[in-house]
Formats: sequence, structure tokens, C-alpha cells
Amino acid sequence: MANRLTKIIATLGPASANKKTIKSLVAKGVNIFRLNLSHGTHETVRQWIQWIREVEAEHHSYVGILLDLQGPKIRVGKFKEGSIHLKRGQRLTFTTENKVGDETLVPVQYQQFHKEVSKGGRIFLDDGKLSGVVKQVAGKRVEVEIQTGGKLSDHKGINLPDSKLSADPITAKDKADLKFGIQEGVDLIALSFTGSAQDVKRLKGLIRKQGSEGIEVIAKIERKQAVNNLEEIIEEADGVMVARGDLGIEVSLTEVPVVQQRILRVGAKHSKPVIVATQMLESMIENPRPTRAEVSDVANAVMDCADAIMLSGETAVGKHAGAAVEVMVDTALNIESYLAGTRTIEPWNKFFEGEPTINAGITYSANRMVELLNASAIVVFTHSGGTAKMVASAKPMVPVFAFTPSLHRARLLNLIRGTVPIVVEEDKHLLLHMEQLIIMLKKRKQLKKGDRVVITTGIPVGIPNWTNIIRVEEVP
Ligand code: PGA
Ligand code: MN
Repeated sequence: MANRLTKIIATLGPASANKKTIKSLVAKGVNIFRLNLSHGTHETVRQWIQWIREVEAEHHSYVGILLDLQGPKIRVGKFKEGSIHLKRGQRLTFTTENKVGDETLVPVQYQQFHKEVSKGGRIFLDDGKLSGVVKQVAGKRVEVEIQTGGKLSDHKGINLPDSKLSADPITAKDKADLKFGIQEGVDLIALSFTGSAQDVKRLKGLIRKQGSEGIEVIAKIERKQAVNNLEEIIEEADGVMVARGDLGIEVSLTEVPVVQQRILRVGAKHSKPVIVATQMLESMIENPRPTRAEVSDVANAVMDCADAIMLSGETAVGKHAGAAVEVMVDTALNIESYLAGTRTIEPWNKFFEGEPTINAGITYSANRMVELLNASAIVVFTHSGGTAKMVASAKPMVPVFAFTPSLHRARLLNLIRGTVPIVVEEDKHLLLHMEQLIIMLKKRKQLKKGDRVVITTGIPVGIPNWTNIIRVEEVP
């Protein structure tokens, strides 16, 4: 079977967090699991992590674990009856007082709420399904006129696209969750509601303070402020997520595809992986088959060479988790096989501005070489992952076999489009042993006799981001 280039991330939740399902999702093609602590306590999530690690060992593959920190998601409190019904034109009071809500009162669990909204500002509820406008602010009480009504139940999310929020994107709960994640050895941490590069720096600082340098940080782009600060955030983060759920409320919905394109482009320019997330196959939460539009959405992300496509509710709470992964796999394979015959690598100047580094020149040329010689694969050796990321950023249509001495690195490489991580022993004499590695790939049926392979690495071995050699071999 063809090597799929686009990676798949699946969110674990009540519908999928058991060993049997985890195992079947990995067999179907999940590369990374996303965990968020809104679905489970530390105790339950610890068990999930253990299951993933067991499945990984049994399956002889590498599976990354991404812990998604919830951040300062603003939520409504509780209602006497569990929910209320809002009608268009109705006025009611939102309050930061510690109260139980009813038909005329909505408690808000964010203490700054009344200070940060103002007259005329829009309020969206439950992922934008309901909305209203602020009519008046009096102390802790905010009067809101409902524009789009519906059922509002306990703890649903609030978005305030017209407010500049002061809320720290790293909350006290996030700090506790981060500590937990580091202890449990997760590979990646996602930062919700990232506003600036400074937020990413602070999270990296917290990770370092716990003695855990190797964890990578994914900045979730879901605020207008983050869209404005896109370039600096991407430079600072190890990867980014187009978090279309909140993003689709914070900026206008029809702008989201444009923002997605921009993020993909800037990500590639900086050799940082981009995840396209949320509502990709939303209807499959209920239905065994997706809509045409959803399949087209997945297909477009693949055509735009996203590094990874993500499932959220589809696998966390959906009725057809396995089928959703299958749809993603089939869509990716179909689109990639179409692209393989038509697509050429991105032009150099699209990615590398200014004085090019040796790395950039070599990794880009390796990509050109693949096209010139009709090669079947690229082989890289990578410690920091930098070489693999750089090679992948030109968006080749062949797999990149990435040899690395680190298991953690192999799991992380699972986020990089096209990369097939393989853990090998540290080797100072790589150039002498290259043929053996190629024969190993042949034995694994990942290459066949006569295939051309473009190899790129750095000599001397072991210097991070040092790539200065291209070599071409034919599989014997
Ligand atoms: P969430 O993030 O699912 O944690 O809200 C993704 C998004 O907002 O799209
Ligand atoms: Mn979000």
C-alpha cells in the first residue's frame, strides 16, 4: 500500500478511550492521539496514556501523544434546570456573581467578564450556535439582547470576538495539567488561545523549568490577535493548529478558509508543521457516512499539503470513530495519488527569504533531485528533527524516511507530512552504513529493487540542523 503523506490526529474521549478502540484506530492509521483534560481526570487520562504506549509497542509503530491545554475558555455556569431556552429579541442578564442561573439570569465563570465587554459587543454561546449583543453594563451585571436563540445548557462556551481579553492563556488548571503531562511523558503540548509569541515562550519556559526540554509546543490559532501575530507565533512555536472551532467565531466564518491558507503558507515557510482541525467530518459524530462537503474539506487540506488533519468530536464522542479515520485515510490516499502525477515542489522563493542557509539549500535541492531523477524516496538522519522538517516543508510527493536515535523524536516526527520515522542506534559512521539502511527499507517493503533514493544528512554527524550532503543511491 502507498505510504500516506498526510498525518492523522484523533482526539480520545469517552467514545474511544479503551484499549481495543485505540488499537484499531492505530491499525487504521492514526499517527497522533490528542488528549484534552475536559473529557477526563488525571487518573483516567493516565490510563489512556498507558494504553496508547502498550498499543504502540504491540503495533511496532510510533504514536505521538498531544496534550491539549484548555486555556481560558470562558464558560457559562450552571442552571437550576440544567439548561434554559433563549428567544430572539429577549433581554436577560449575564452576571459574574456566584449564582445559579435561570430563565432570566446567566452566570458566567470568568471574573473579568463584566469589565471586558462593552455596549454593542457581540456574545456568542455554544460554539456560535446562539448569539446576542451587549445592551448595558452595570457593575457585575451585563444586559444582553438575544439575536439567535436556542437551548443553552450548563458550562457551554462563550466567545467575545469584540473584546480584547486580558485572560492569561496559561491558567492555574493548565499549569497543573502541564505538570501532569510532563510526568506522563507526553510528546506535544498544545496551547489554546495563544495570543502572541510571548505566550509560547512562557509555556516553553514552564516546560524547561520542569526539566523537560524535548516536549514540543503547538500554538493553537483561534483568536484574532493570534492571526495578527501569526508570523512571530509560528517562528516561536514548534508547530501550529488551525483551530477552526473558536477561530470561526473570533473572525468571520467566511474568513476562516483564507486564514487557513495563510497559516499553511507561513508554516511551510518556517518549516513548521500545520494541523488543520475541527469539524472536518462533524456529521460523522452521528452518521456512518460524511457529507460531500466534509470530504471536500479534508481533500482541500490534503491538496494544500497540511502536515496533519485532525478529528475532534468524531473520535472523542462520536458513534463512528473508526469509520471517520477510514474516511480520512481514503481521502488522503486518493488526493495524494492524484497530486503525485501533477504536483511539483514549491518554488524556492516561496519559502526562503533573504540569505539562504546551507541547510535550506541542501534540503531544497534534495527535493529538486527527487523530481529530476524520478526518485521514490528521501532518506534523512535527524536528531533535532530540523532536517526532516526542512525537507518536508518543500512538500515532496515521496515519503521521507527519517532515521533517528530517539524514540521521542520518532513520535514527534509523526506530525511532519511525509515523514516515516525509524529508530536506529546512534551511528558516527553513517556514510559507511547507508547501504544497509536502504536494504533494511527494501526488506520492510518500503522500497524495491531499482528505486532511486535521495539521501541527505550532515557530516560530521550529530550537529543539530546541520545538513551538507546529498547522495543518490539505487536500491540493489
Ligand atoms: P478546542 O480547539 O477543540 O480545544 O476548542 C480546537 C478549536 O477551537 O478548533
Ligand atoms: Mn478552541
